[in-house]
Amino acid sequence: MNPTDVQPAIPLRIRPYSRTSHIVAWLTPGNGRLVTLMKGSCRARSSFLGQYDLGYTCELVYYRRERFGLHLARECAAVKARPGFRCFWKSAVWLSYASFLLDRLAVESHCQPELFRLAESAMDHASARPANINLALWFELHAISAAGFRPRLDSCCACGSDSLQPDGRLLFSPRNGGIICAECARRPQDDSMPLSAATFSVLRSWLRLDSPQEHAADGPSPRQIYEASALIKRFMDYHLDMPPENRYACIQLLGSGPISSPPGWGEPS
Ligand SMILES: [Zn+2]
Repeated sequence: MNPTDVQPAIPLRIRPYSRTSHIVAWLTPGNGRLVTLMKGSCRARSSFLGQYDLGYTCELVYYRRERFGLHLARECAAVKARPGFRCFWKSAVWLSYASFLLDRLAVESHCQPELFRLAESAMDHASARPANINLALWFELHAISAAGFRPRLDSCCACGSDSLQPDGRLLFSPRNGGIICAECARRPQDDSMPLSAATFSVLRSWLRLDSPQEHAADGPSPRQIYEASALIKRFMDYHLDMPPENRYACIQLLGSGPISSPPGWGEPS
């Protein structure tokens, strides 16, 4: 018999394996991304019934199978079901995209406690009230940061200067992973995009806020939200190579505002 392990686990992706079983990808703090076969989970008397779904936190007991990367679940118990995701449709939209993003960012056999804590706190927040665009963008920034792709916003990527003069002309370079100061912005920069001082300030304040409870107090304008969204999209396109459709649907549905579809609003390319 293979050794067993126990992990708190968040389901990220659930797909059928046969008429009676599922394969589930999980985010765990101790093992990063983990994939298990839930054998017989669709049978009428299965002990797995009702114990896992998107938005849940579960306690997962599984047999480790190192050779093929597909572990075998032995027991699963829902610890938090977060029923708010079945009430607030905007939160359900966000959850679908957040689960997809976490599935891309989680790495197999890596400790990722920060990503796990972030997912739990953001899901707690979104299940207690309808999600909004601020939460979606705040979560993206912190999720990519927890996975090692934190955008550099405290000093210039080209010269290292931390004298950024936010009242001057700033650029953001997805390739270099951060901000280009006003002095360096005088020289031609390949892939950079202009960044207003106001949006720069919003992004820095979002990165400083560790709790999703606090982000709502910022109140960025629709224009700043559009600019921040376009910047995050370009950054993730370059570093994560994600298909754009999931993000586009989430941002469009959560981002209702006076400007319906300005340029750079994360359209699929
Ligand atoms: Zn510089």
